[in-house]
Amino acid sequence: MPELPEVEALALDLKGRLDGRAIVKVHIAAFSALKTFDPPLTALEGTLVDDVTRHGKFLDLDCSGTHLVLHLARAGWVRWREEVPTIPPKPSTKSTLAVRIVLDDGSGLDVTEAGTRKSLAMYVVRDPLDVPGIATLGPDPLTDDFTVERLGEILQREGRKQIKGVLRHQGTIAGIGNAYSDEILHAARMSPYKPASSIDGEELQTLHDALRTTVGDAVARSRGLAASELKGEKKSNLAVHGRTGQPCPVCGDVVREVSFADSSLQYCPTCQTGGKPLADRRMSKLLK
Ligand SMILES: [Zn+2]
Repeated sequence: MPELPEVEALALDLKGRLDGRAIVKVHIAAFSALKTFDPPLTALEGTLVDDVTRHGKFLDLDCSGTHLVLHLARAGWVRWREEVPTIPPKPSTKSTLAVRIVLDDGSGLDVTEAGTRKSLAMYVVRDPLDVPGIATLGPDPLTDDFTVERLGEILQREGRKQIKGVLRHQGTIAGIGNAYSDEILHAARMSPYKPASSIDGEELQTLHDALRTTVGDAVARSRGLAASELKGEKKSNLAVHGRTGQPCPVCGDVVREVSFADSSLQYCPTCQTGGKPLADRRMSKLLK
């Protein structure tokens, strides 16, 4: 799933390609992905792309004041095409294409969604704040006013909730998902289960540093990369996320995981939990 750094880089890449171009046609193939009906999708046709920005993990194409907002979710992606096929795409259960945007010079972009879990969401709105997920976003962790004090206030407000869930909740802090929350906690040498409000003093400073460095470095690495290169870039720099069973790059211990109904987290016991593996319901079931 693309998170803040990838969406930031996508926005930058698309801005360079789309700036000042006119949209001539929008073909929709996955009708279920479109969450709004007014303005209609056709309102984008004939507009100029003025800007491409990011709000949390949402991508925002400003098309002469009408906004096409995309939430790529788990398996959504944007593919740039120097030349789009002239035949309109047919809606098909086999195709990954959700929407195709054709530009005035024959180039364009495909928004795709792989896999069976259809969670890609598209919105056509007059104001990005009309998208419920954007209106309720927490502060962006890369802005100057996201200080140690601000993070401290957020954590106090969240009380005894586990830090892993707090970091990835979009209404609390914008843009961090399952992958970067694992990476931030590994960099901070902190248990994913630590209660938010218990983090203060030196630990709070450490967590703030880890958050800004992890997300900031990922943005710096991703900037300037084309959409097609971003996934590989993200994967090759992860220390624990998605690396169950492999050695921790810091201490060499084996990266472990805890699985939940629809996700899993990865961590290093030596770096983060005093050497003790966390209980994992699936693992204990297997051992019974
Ligand atoms: Zn380690």
